[in-house]
Amino acid sequence: RFAYVNGRFVRYGSATVHIEDRGYQFADGVYEVIALAGGKFVDLDLHLQRLDRSLSELRIERPMSDRALTFVLDNLAKRNGIRNGSVYLQITRGVAPRDFVFPRDAVPQVVAVARRAKPIAQTAIEDGVKAITIPDIRWARCDIKSVALLPAALGKQAAREAGAYEAWQYDRDGFITEGTSSNAWIVTPDGDLVTRPATNAILNGITRLVVIELAKAAGLRFVERPFSIKEAHAAREAFVTSTTSFVMPITQIDETPIGNGKPGSFTRELREKYMAHMAEIAGA
Ligand code: PLP
Repeated sequence: RFAYVNGRFVRYGSATVHIEDRGYQFADGVYEVIALAGGKFVDLDLHLQRLDRSLSELRIERPMSDRALTFVLDNLAKRNGIRNGSVYLQITRGVAPRDFVFPRDAVPQVVAVARRAKPIAQTAIEDGVKAITIPDIRWARCDIKSVALLPAALGKQAAREAGAYEAWQYDRDGFITEGTSSNAWIVTPDGDLVTRPATNAILNGITRLVVIELAKAAGLRFVERPFSIKEAHAAREAFVTSTTSFVMPITQIDETPIGNGKPGSFTRELREKYMAHMAEIAGA
């Protein structure tokens, strides 16, 4: 198994970065997770655009062109023999003696690993999964895909300990922002498909963007607005979207069953459409 570290493909077991990498000390870096379907990257351009935005918001110099990055990631997947799975790409500001102020002449550090897809349990898709709600304790720039993921780790751990798949985070006003590693969606009793607008309060998921387009094309009534915990509990359907979960039905939030406790029609339709979107890329 191989990893990519700063211009080289190295054995996974001996892939290392310097102890004074600012990613390690300050979480001063960004990342992307891009799905592979049939050996093709899923919505690569959108991921590269978001990466560019994350880097420029943090004023980290772009270390290589989109073409070079694509070549590296593709090569990494091929060397590892991975056709269905994902690649993780991380870029940090660089290595320098520990000081909060940006180092002069920092050289961004680029690492990447490829991973085979973990099969999603058929029961999860058919029956849906549980989400819990937790306070959103993150910073005010959740729109940047930074490697500062301690709140996400704490939230996901709380979810696991509660027998849940995901934790939906809520803001000070009691409105859901998003999952720890996914975007949150509901269908209201009136049949509106709702997800929170892409502001600084959430990461604008690539899956989210694609599902919005699929929903519009399918003629579903789509509304971008914040929704409360109370509304989530009273929803007819709920689901999450992410690069690795695709469209995952949520059939219980905290102790409340959602709708009739089974994945609803909007959720099933959007999941099928998203799977078809991936299949199309895989077959292209
Ligand atoms: N929101 C957060 C906080 C995330 O970490 C992620 C992905 O990891 C998402 C949403 C979903 O984004 P995407 O669909 O681009 O994977």
